[in-house]
Amino acid sequence: MMNNVKTYLAGIRTTQITPKCPKCRKYYVGYPALSREDNETEICPECGVKEAILCYLRNRKPV
Ligand SMILES: [Zn+2]
Repeated sequence: MMNNVKTYLAGIRTTQITPKCPKCRKYYVGYPALSREDNETEICPECGVKEAILCYLRNRKPV
């Protein structure tokens, strides 16, 4: 019984899609973020946040 559950969970883990982020070249789980550079490249959520911050800083005009 316990072994069956373990095998079942292992099966889920191996069949789960782990996309690779083209920016940091790391595998990630969860929903990808859309790159702001071309609006079609899927990157990891971590890079998505970084791009958002960079975009904000770039667009911020120095007073
Ligand atoms: Zn990344």
